[in-house]
Amino acid sequence: IVKFQNVHKSFGDVEVLKGIDLDIKPAEKVAVIGPSGSGKTTIIRMLMTLEEPTSGTILVDGENLWNMEKNGKLIPANEKHLQQIRGNIGMVFQHFNLFPHMSILENCMTAPIHVQKEDKKTAKERSVEMLEKVGLGDKLDNYPSQLSGGQKQRVAMARALVMRPKIMLFDEVTSALDPELVEEVLEVIRGIANEGSMSMVLVTHEMEFARDIADRVLFLDAGVIAEQGPPHEVFGQSENVRLQSFLRRFK
Ligand code: ATP
Repeated sequence: IVKFQNVHKSFGDVEVLKGIDLDIKPAEKVAVIGPSGSGKTTIIRMLMTLEEPTSGTILVDGENLWNMEKNGKLIPANEKHLQQIRGNIGMVFQHFNLFPHMSILENCMTAPIHVQKEDKKTAKERSVEMLEKVGLGDKLDNYPSQLSGGQKQRVAMARALVMRPKIMLFDEVTSALDPELVEEVLEVIRGIANEGSMSMVLVTHEMEFARDIADRVLFLDAGVIAEQGPPHEVFGQSENVRLQSFLRRFK
């Protein structure tokens, strides 16, 4: 459902991604780990079309992100094409990015109404359903400022899920949380993962969680995928010295 072909990304003179090839299957759960600055967030931001690759190709659900075909030729994608692709992708950030002046129900309803052109009643029903799924069915009329960090993050998830994405991206969603709030958020992600149908890409520093949830773990190091495989291999028996040294920090 996601394909990176020799993707490079530079910011100025600094090459952050140095040739990423990646193929993510429908329903596959991929955890991305690696040292700070290795390019993990950049990969996620590219999938969300927030960054354009310097070179290489990214396909989402068969659609070329930055180029589209017209009369047999590739031309730069227009905003409509990008919007359409973004509709398949849900993203949850480290900082929750909720709208402070809206109740949590309104936070969830706004994209279905304005982007997907749902009628208000359907948008509300779906939003309530998703907020119940993340355990916030009793807080619909609360404002973000009245919630804990873990609860805010769960609202952010409900808000993404309401759009029924095919792919969910999670970028260090527990990093800004107090330690005692981490587990409730991970629990919700586990629940979503267990439902099975969505592809998930998770950038995380929670190694136990990655081991638990992922079908495949990618170790990104200095802009390349330095190691990848099922969790028991990556966490168990890799001979990659950089990976071993990275993982020791979490012991
Ligand atoms: P962390 O774990 O610290 O979040 P990361 O692996 O997610 O790190 P990225 O955020 O992808 O790393 O950043 C990779 C490198 O690219 C960093 O050195 C960062 O400073 C640089 N970078 C990212 N975005 C930009 C930008 N918009 N302009 C310039 N440099 C950038």
